Parts: sequence; C-alpha cells; structure tokens
Amino acid sequence: MRIGIIGGGAAGMVAAITAARVGAEVTIFEKMDRVGKKLLATGNGRCNISNEHMELFHFHGAAPDFIKAVMEAVSPERTRQFWESLGLVLISLEGKLYPMSLQASGVLDALRGEMERLGVRICCATPVERIVSVKKNWMLEGADGQELGRFPRIIITVGGKASPQFGADGDGKKLAAALGHTVVPLRPALVKLKCRSPYLKALSGCKVDAKASLLQGDEVLAQEWGEVLFTAEGLSGPPILRLSREALVSGRRCSIALNLMDQMREGECYWWLKQRAERFGYMKVQEMLSGILHKRLILPMLKETDIPPQMLCERLSKQQVQALARILQWWTFPVLGDGGWREAQVTVGGVFTGEIDPNTMQSKKRNGIYWAGEVLDVDGDCGGYNLQWAASSGILAGQCAAQ
Ligand SMILES: Cc1cc2nc3c(=O)[nH]c(=O)nc-3n(C[C@H](O)[C@H](O)[C@H](O)COP(=O)(O)OP(=O)(O)OC[C@H]3O[C@@H](n4cnc5c(N)ncnc54)[C@H](O)[C@@H]3O)c2cc1C
Repeated sequence: MRIGIIGGGAAGMVAAITAARVGAEVTIFEKMDRVGKKLLATGNGRCNISNEHMELFHFHGAAPDFIKAVMEAVSPERTRQFWESLGLVLISLEGKLYPMSLQASGVLDALRGEMERLGVRICCATPVERIVSVKKNWMLEGADGQELGRFPRIIITVGGKASPQFGADGDGKKLAAALGHTVVPLRPALVKLKCRSPYLKALSGCKVDAKASLLQGDEVLAQEWGEVLFTAEGLSGPPILRLSREALVSGRRCSIALNLMDQMREGECYWWLKQRAERFGYMKVQEMLSGILHKRLILPMLKETDIPPQMLCERLSKQQVQALARILQWWTFPVLGDGGWREAQVTVGGVFTGEIDPNTMQSKKRNGIYWAGEVLDVDGDCGGYNLQWAASSGILAGQCAAQ
C-alpha cells in the first residue's frame, strides 16, 4: 500500500513507522525544513511522552466515546511498547513518563532513525495545500498548485494551531473544510492567561508557590497548586496553564484567585497575622511582611489593601488585618483572555470526531483519508496526555491505512 502522510510531527512519524513496519510504502510531506520541531520543545526539552495515570477524564473533546474507543484500540501499554521498540527506555518522574535520557532530541533521533531504516521518504519544506480526488487516488498539491504525488491512502496529521512557530498553524481546518468535514472551533489551551491588574508590570517575572482557584463569580470551578509566574500581562506557570482550558470556555467571565497561605485555614490566617502585628508592633507593616512574602509582592499588596507601607504594625486596625489576610489568601485577578497562540501548548477543537471511524481513524466522509493527532477535536491535560493521544491515534491510523 502506498501512503502519503501530511505533517511530520509526532502523530505523523508514529503513523509512518507503524505503516512501514507492515510493508507500506510511505512518504511524509512536512512544511517545515525538518520533521518533529514541536517534539523538540515538549516537556521543556525533556519530552513528557505519556503518564502512568491514563484515566479518560484527562482527555477532552466533543465525543468522549470516540476517545475511549481509540485509547482502547491502542492502549498506553501498546504505545509504550512502540517507544521501546525504537530503543527508548521510559522512566516515571512523579507519574509522568519521559525518555530515560530526559532529552526530546533523543526521541526525535529514534523516530528518524527508524524511518530511515524502514525507507520512509521524507519531503521537508513541502507544504500540502490541497487534496484532490483523482480516479482511485488522492493527489496532493503543494504551493502554486504543483503536484506532489498520488496515493490511494492519505493520513492527515497537520496538528492544530498552538505554537505555530513549530509548524502547525491551522492548515487542518482548511484541509478538513475542503474535504467536507465539520471543524469544531479552535481555541488555545495550556496557555498563560491575560489578566487585569494595575500591578502586573511591577510583578512581572516574580514566581510564587500558590494555590490558584478559578472563580466564576463566587463559585470555585477548579483549583491547581504549584509555581505561579507573574507576567507583564497576566499569570503563567503550571497551575495557570492547567486552569486555562476551563478559564477560556467561550462566554465565561472568570478570575483567578491566588492563595499564598494555603497551609492555613481562612480564620487561622487572620489570627496568625494579628499575633504577628502585636508581637512586631514596633515594625513597619512592610518590614513585618518581608519576613513572610516575596519582597516584590509587598508593595502591590499593600496598595491593593490601602495600607500605608510605613505604618507601624501596632496601629493596624482589625479591618486592615482582615484585608491583609484576605489578600494573602484570595488575591484575585480577572481573566481577560488567553496569552496568544504562540504561547499555547495545545489546541482545543479541530476536526469533528463524529465524522471519523474510531476503529480505523478513517474519515466517514472520504474513503482513503485518515486523521490522527492534534488536528482532531481531542486535547489532553498537561502531563504527557497530548503526546499519548498523538501516539495512540497515529499508531491506529498507520496500522489501518496500511491494510
Ligand atoms: C512548548 C510545548 C510543549 C509541549 N510539551 C508537551 C509534553 O511535554 N507532553 C505532551 O504530551 N504534549 C506536549 N505538548 C503538546 C504536543 O507536543 C502536541 O500535542 C503534539 O506534538 C501534537 O502532535 P501532532 O503530530 O498531532 O502535531 P504537530 O506536532 O503539531 O505536528 C504537525 C506537523 O504538521 C506540519 N504541517 C502543518 N501543516 C502542514 C501542511 N499543510 N503541509 C505539510 N505539513 C504541515 C507541521 O509543520 C508539523 O510538523 C507541548 C506542546 C508545546 C507547544
């Protein structure tokens, strides 16, 4: 079987190897000057390839049954065997699976080595612009309409729109629409959030350990813990990225509340501060706080609570101590939007999976067209779930297209 694969990312390369291993003659068309650019950036260059905890709630999309069927057809155990068949050893760091080398470049080298061994043809700097049905084949057209090749089977793995600097910039939507597929609207996720606050410029670059709560009005929608990073325009860091998917649901107006004293219950924090204010009554408020807070947070917090930094602690009123306790545990930042596609790690939305057969990844609308990876309306949580999806769907598409 001759197969053309559009997109040389994780899903495309996994599909290519799977198909070539059962005898298919495979050609990959990649628009960038080399394959796997995004893979190199994953996991901060360490490639968080999967996770020990593979519950389905870590995956999102309009059709959960589709995701379930694909993950059952190609289980995490099977993808692990795939990675090991390339010579990689996977290790777990707090449940997240990485290559033992902790180098994404090692994973890409292993994929490229295997593709070379199997004779997979790779055409880089070759964007596919159109897919045209010609007799029993699909003809791929590049820029200026030149023909790139004809294949009875095509696997489309062009990714989503997140981090377009690595190649995937939304071509999937165009190709899908031309093939008559429905596309669930795209939006960025695992992305920093733009927030409203007059203090962001002063705080930019500051990192704090906090519990971050996503609020809609008074309702807490989700909570995450970890290192929060202030940026000039908003909030970032792992807990914020993890909350971003929920925060950016269209039409939702929400805010992020930071709790810098999560080890204490709410009343406790007030009494603790009150005792400190009494014990250190001779200190200025600013000095007393510098024993417990990152220095750069103090002035913005005092400004927000309207407490003069030079005021002596002994002069703090009950309301002022209450205001301090409140801001330490509920420092709230209204969310204005996402930090932009370039900053996003994944795409929400994509080709509607109700139009794809989950047993084969073949389009229900076009014979011989298969889909895999982030181009589909499936996205995963932070922690290796997106590469897991790329691998599971890529293996299934490669295996079925080759038959
Ligand atoms: C900074 C960053 C860190 C991440 N870290 C992790 C992590 O640690 N763990 C994890 O699970 N996930 C991580 N992700 C997400 C994960 O990398 C992606 O979900 C996954 O790589 C998607 O694979 P894919 O093959 O579907 O798409 P992509 O990797 O985006 O590949 C698509 C390919 O198609 C090519 N292409 C696009 N259009 C065309 C066209 N018209 N013609 C030809 N080629 C085309 C692109 O150039 C690209 O090479 C991270 C993402 C980013 C941006």
